[in-house]
Amino acid sequence: MPLDLITVPCRVDNYAFLIHESATGQTALIDAPEVAPIEAALEERGWTLTDILITHHHDDHIAGVDALRAKYGARVIGGADDALRLPRLDLEVAGGDTFTTCGAEVSVIDVPGHTVGHIAFDVPAANAVFTADSLMALGCGRLFEGTAAQMWDSLKKLRALPAERLVCSGHEYTASNLRFALSIDPDNRDLILRGEEIAAARAQGRPTVPSTLDVERRTNPFLRADNPVLKAAMNMANATDTDVFAEIRGRKDRF
Ligand code: ZN
Ligand code: FE
Repeated sequence: MPLDLITVPCRVDNYAFLIHESATGQTALIDAPEVAPIEAALEERGWTLTDILITHHHDDHIAGVDALRAKYGARVIGGADDALRLPRLDLEVAGGDTFTTCGAEVSVIDVPGHTVGHIAFDVPAANAVFTADSLMALGCGRLFEGTAAQMWDSLKKLRALPAERLVCSGHEYTASNLRFALSIDPDNRDLILRGEEIAAARAQGRPTVPSTLDVERRTNPFLRADNPVLKAAMNMANATDTDVFAEIRGRKDRF
């Protein structure tokens, strides 16, 4: 049975996500930016929290973990490599591991770059990959700890997932990411069309997250560092993919 997938806006521009299986009543939360909107989303539906999955150690992704665990008795799952700077984990996982939540298999993908211990969760039964601050809608997370080469490798792993996968990323940064993407890839017809959809969504206060991986592949400049057209547009036709990625990331930091 397919799982329900709910996007929960939190704080200023964060997103948390809930997945739910009606047969067992199990519900998993991916990241806990704060408590109140997550509690409200659960109560509105009469759901109780079974598991809390953590992507990385930044406060805007873990601030609500301990209070939600205390209230619901949920199992907390996060990256073994980052266990020392995460809330107490009941299950430590690493890239390549699988575990079960809501009766569904979850694959753990190691996606360093934004932080060295960042992981993503792929849940085929929900057609969703939870990427937080690695792959984002039209963007990727800043390189606070990892290198450009690490982030490019991480994004290539995510890019290889099925095209229909919903990319559930951690922030509503899409409108500013769009302005940057258009600045380096101005003739990309798919990007121009996506820009119109983003403007319409934001004008109505609708989230632009999740997006599909198919759309990200065609429009997200950070997934296109090996695209000959984009390389040429950046005057880097003969540069390595990693160097092009580093240049795109650097230009975004200064944008
Ligand atoms: Zn972060
Ligand atoms: Fe974040």
